[in-house]
Amino acid sequence: MAFVSMKNLLREAKKQHYAIGQFNINGLQWTKAILQAAEEERSPVIAAASDRLIDYLGGFKTVAGMVAALVEEMSITVPVVLHLDHGSSPERCKKAIDAGFSSVMIDGSHSPIDENIAMTKEVAAYARSYNVSVEAEVGTVGGMEDGLIGGVKYADIHECERLVKEADIDALAAALGSVHGKYQGEPNLGFKEMEEISRVTDIPLVLHGASGIPTDQIAKAIRLGHAKININTECMVAWTDKTRSMFKENLELYEPRAYMTPGISAVKETVKLKMREFGSSGKAAYTQEIKV
Ligand SMILES: [Zn+2]
Repeated sequence: MAFVSMKNLLREAKKQHYAIGQFNINGLQWTKAILQAAEEERSPVIAAASDRLIDYLGGFKTVAGMVAALVEEMSITVPVVLHLDHGSSPERCKKAIDAGFSSVMIDGSHSPIDENIAMTKEVAAYARSYNVSVEAEVGTVGGMEDGLIGGVKYADIHECERLVKEADIDALAAALGSVHGKYQGEPNLGFKEMEEISRVTDIPLVLHGASGIPTDQIAKAIRLGHAKININTECMVAWTDKTRSMFKENLELYEPRAYMTPGISAVKETVKLKMREFGSSGKAAYTQEIKV
């Protein structure tokens, strides 16, 4: 089965008040864990490659080929989106689309809004002809973003409105207090602003940096229009903790399969828990009928 665009998946999720998880891939075994979790949960899934990791992962074609081959060899039947996370330029997004990605994020959030809109429009125009979905961002997610460490900058409601109106996008990441990486203290999301942005734009919202956000806040974000929730840190911590404990128990380990498999199982369990938390478990059969 080919990859699907996230356009209709997110619209349906928003209408039914659940969210689809985006899980970032950190290699082949990692991808297997995400796909297996989705299949077992009967959940649609967004497998994402972060733009800054594309070279590490072997390039756009390698990523697209690897994920497509795994979907086939593992007989995955649930809808799978292959998404570029934090695409740094229109050129990078076009490369991902040419390689077979079914969805891209163009992150022009570090540029003034006029430039952000121009970049997003360029990507959206290209993406449309390939039936590829587009996500854009306004404001700044805290922590590490595009390799830059920065503070939180709330999305401006008028900028969100303009971006959605002028560029033809399918999902909007409006930064409202979430952070990439680990939170220092309690997360503090701007729910009032979230409600307003959701009402004004009427588009599926995307929550970046959702690892570590308590369940009740996740539920509230979904109620207020979030249909895509990005998880990376929690999977990385699950993997690293497990792998570290393997060496703690036995420093003589040298076979990668032996010391990596328990960590990969921990990633799979984390993904499954998130799918249940987001309410996407069991939604695959339904969303398959509406896939494009
Ligand atoms: Zn992000």
